[in-house]
Amino acid sequence: MEMPYRRLGASGLKVSALSFGAWVTFGNQVSTEVARDLLHAAYGAGVNFFDNAETYADGRAETVMGEILKNSGWRRSSYVLSSKVYFGAESEGPNEMGLSRKHVIEGCHGSLRRLQADYLDLFFCHRADPDTPLLETVRAMHDLIIQGKVLYWGTSEWTAAQITEAHELCAKYNFHAPVVEQPQYNLFHRSRFEKELTPVLKERGMGTTIWSPLASGLLTGKYNDGIPEDSRLHMESLEWLKKRLTGFGTEKKLAAIKKFAAVAAGIDTPLPRLAIAWCLKNPQVSTVITGASKVEQLQENLATIGIMERLTPAVMAELDQISRTVAE
Ligand code: NDP
Repeated sequence: MEMPYRRLGASGLKVSALSFGAWVTFGNQVSTEVARDLLHAAYGAGVNFFDNAETYADGRAETVMGEILKNSGWRRSSYVLSSKVYFGAESEGPNEMGLSRKHVIEGCHGSLRRLQADYLDLFFCHRADPDTPLLETVRAMHDLIIQGKVLYWGTSEWTAAQITEAHELCAKYNFHAPVVEQPQYNLFHRSRFEKELTPVLKERGMGTTIWSPLASGLLTGKYNDGIPEDSRLHMESLEWLKKRLTGFGTEKKLAAIKKFAAVAAGIDTPLPRLAIAWCLKNPQVSTVITGASKVEQLQENLATIGIMERLTPAVMAELDQISRTVAE
């Protein structure tokens, strides 16, 4: 089954329905060799969008990805490369994070250096910054686009009100406006995307690159009987994520996972594919960013494309009903 490509909102950019991100894994959980195998497996399957951020592994995720891309021999025009600014990379000085003009511009330069790239296709504000006037941030993004260092800019985990304000400022000053939002979206995390963001995304013609489609792996069923040693929740540096995912409401989530698994079995589909396919079915989703620490996981997830039509309206209704009992 061939990888479909979707327009990123109203922009002319086309992204593969499934994309691949470097969070937790590159420069951290996996070796450079495994990172290389993962990126090559993704590209070989038609994935054209690779997601990264200055903060992933304190900049090392970009360094590892940049080296792999440099040695790949792939045409630069054949893939879409992103990074994100806000949390900072190697250092933590007061001007080395946030969305001030200084950090947006310097952050972009740092990402370009680590990724060994001349430009970023997508540059995201990784969060909103309450300490910087929004006009300062949108002007800095616009200037990076005018300089050719960034082709399109976007937001990540911004509220509908913040996105609206950014668009209004861009219209007023004739700046390039954000074309994409990157929110979390999965069977356990829905309401922000579906209720709050969808109206503004439609109104402003914005696409979406959604993250954690498997809720960090929870939706694969791998945590049903405890925490496997080779999983991300076993990593000391991710104690905060473990607390979040295995804290309040875990029992209800595990019960829901068993019900999702029964639906998956009913349509002869592994659970990870079902969970990813459910995200892809939402027409407001331009691309689902998958993550993987093993090539077999990635291959499993990429096979989602072949089972999309099994998610009939009846199956979607069943999933919706289970999900509504536990989803935020
Ligand atoms: P997922 O929810 O898909 O979790 C991926 C993890 O789940 C893998 O690393 C692996 O972890 C496990 N896994 C994946 N597939 C399987 C499988 N088939 N069977 C068993 N386990 C599996 O996505 P991520 O949370 O990694 O997010 C994806 C991307 O989204 C990130 O890389 C990043 O680019 C982006 N992102 C953006 C954020 C933002 O704020 N904008 C925040 C977070 C992510 P394990 O090693 O435990 O096996």
